[in-house]
Amino acid sequence: MARKNIAAGNWKMNTTVSEGVDLYKSLSEHNVPSDVTVIVGAPFIHLSSLIAVKNDNIKVAAQNCHYENSGAYTGETSPSMLADLGVDYVILGHSERREYFNEDNALLAKKLNAVLANGLPVIFCCGEPLEIRREGTQNAYVSKQLEEGLFHLDVSQLKDVVIAYEPIWAIGTGETASPAQAQDMHAHIRSILVNKYGSDAAENMSILYGGSVKPANAKEIFGQKDVDGGLVGGASLKADMFKNIIDSF
Ligand code: PEP
Repeated sequence: MARKNIAAGNWKMNTTVSEGVDLYKSLSEHNVPSDVTVIVGAPFIHLSSLIAVKNDNIKVAAQNCHYENSGAYTGETSPSMLADLGVDYVILGHSERREYFNEDNALLAKKLNAVLANGLPVIFCCGEPLEIRREGTQNAYVSKQLEEGLFHLDVSQLKDVVIAYEPIWAIGTGETASPAQAQDMHAHIRSILVNKYGSDAAENMSILYGGSVKPANAKEIFGQKDVDGGLVGGASLKADMFKNIIDSF
């Protein structure tokens, strides 16, 4: 099994449902290269409308979910609801969830287990804030996020996990990690995966870069040896820009 090239969009809390459906339809018309998996991460309220028009060309992801399948959790959405609806992926641990909704590694580990138990693959996000990058301790910081959030999994579960490395200082700021900075961190992540799970499993995992990916920088970033694609925020909201990124592998 070779690792996948993935262009994943994260719409965050943007677009009305009808705007999201129009964006999805426009992306669906694109001739997606056969070796690229395209995913859009949409707000919960959009998911059933997207699934009603969904085709295999563009997969649909939720941006979060709860760790229980049902219960007294007002305002939450469960992994079994998402699986039943026909969602293809769930994004977990985005830095905005970690920062604004207090999601820590222990909570994310529970969410990860619940989503995988429902048969859905996960895009699991990690990445350091600016002060950690300035200190130069980003490798240890990201290792801890993965050790505490992900490394309880069994090797057989890794086929359903994609890692997204997103340095927080590069998300929505217009500042991108240099291709060398992205490659260094991706190589670090792959090396800790090798130590924990062995080289076959580590080689087969897709690791995405996120942080101000644009048509102008996608090719160089995706061209790095350990970068298998991108998790794209702002530029995934414009069909033409995202199509261009899809064609950047
Ligand atoms: C993101 O939302 O995960 C992201 C990386 O955003 P942006 O591409 O806008 O920096």
